[in-house]
Amino acid sequence: MKIAAPLVAWQRSQGRQGLPWQQTRDPYRVWLSEIMLQQTQVTAVIPYYQKFLASFPDVASLAQAPSEQVMAHWAGLGYYARARNLHACAQRVMQEWAGNFPPDSAGLATLPGIGPSTAAAIAAFCYGERAAILDGNVKRVLSRYFAIDGDPTTRATEQKLWQLARSEVPSAAQLRRDPMVMTAYTQGQMDLGATLCTRARPQCKICPLQKGCLAYAQGRTDELPWPRTKKILPERSTCMLIACHQNKVLLQRRPDSGIWGGLWSLPEFDSGLSPQDGCAYLGVSVGKIQSLSAFLHTFTHYRLTIEPILAHVRSTKISADTRIDMSQSEWIQIGQLSTLGMPAPVRKLLDGLLADHLLR
Ligand code: SF4
Repeated sequence: MKIAAPLVAWQRSQGRQGLPWQQTRDPYRVWLSEIMLQQTQVTAVIPYYQKFLASFPDVASLAQAPSEQVMAHWAGLGYYARARNLHACAQRVMQEWAGNFPPDSAGLATLPGIGPSTAAAIAAFCYGERAAILDGNVKRVLSRYFAIDGDPTTRATEQKLWQLARSEVPSAAQLRRDPMVMTAYTQGQMDLGATLCTRARPQCKICPLQKGCLAYAQGRTDELPWPRTKKILPERSTCMLIACHQNKVLLQRRPDSGIWGGLWSLPEFDSGLSPQDGCAYLGVSVGKIQSLSAFLHTFTHYRLTIEPILAHVRSTKISADTRIDMSQSEWIQIGQLSTLGMPAPVRKLLDGLLADHLLR
């Protein structure tokens, strides 16, 4: 049984209708929402989406903005490569497409940060293109509906799911009869995965796809899709220096590429060094030093133990014989910290110290 007809009918009667990016077919707005919604839930995205549009109402204003301003608007949403790609993509649209997003999914997929599923979603929403999406929610729905065994993150299973996703797209005849069918179908897949066919306890009793769902018929909704094969992540550690002087904190802007690229973070030194040697390594002359509780931050490819060192320093001067490049470092007024783009664990650490009145 094909899923399009029941899914479209369900989306129109019970799916999500009032989301801010559903009121438009403007590719800039739809693209922005799709990038933000990758790995982030709708409720978290809405305020960021609105703040972004207030500051960057169109692709030209985003392309022209300094990268620091873009990163500051993104700070807190996580997965910062998305923000860097967003900015690069806006610039490419201005330079190579005269300020207009490409008119189909194939063109969209050539832009930075737009994978095949995101390109298809934008093309389906904005142009009504018969393009298949395959995000995490859709993988789960299709894995269950067709009872697909195998880890959906592996190439072989993913290819199988892509084939199924393409074969389920509404037909050209359906599109002729109902020009908005791709919007409802694409949104319906997203809504079903987010609200009924959830990871735990799917609500099969009220699901519009229940009749044809093999996982439901076979009593296998708990075991499908297969869980991702667990990787053992390598462990690393670092010391982060929170150097304070007269209401200022020393921060360092990270290089544009790599982890936390373009964000303001704390200067780091090797956790094998003593706090005194670490401060000397950074060229900071310290007075009182306090080691704070270490905590863990997990990246996609490794786990990082962060050992924070709080130091009240004698002066803001950075010694010339520092052994690392401190040219991107700056003493920032405590009152300005909230305006900067920072990695989430660094923000949390500084907010905790502020709340405990330890920054001064
Ligand atoms: S019947 Fe259940 S498992 Fe099947 S698609 Fe619907 S919610 Fe998911």
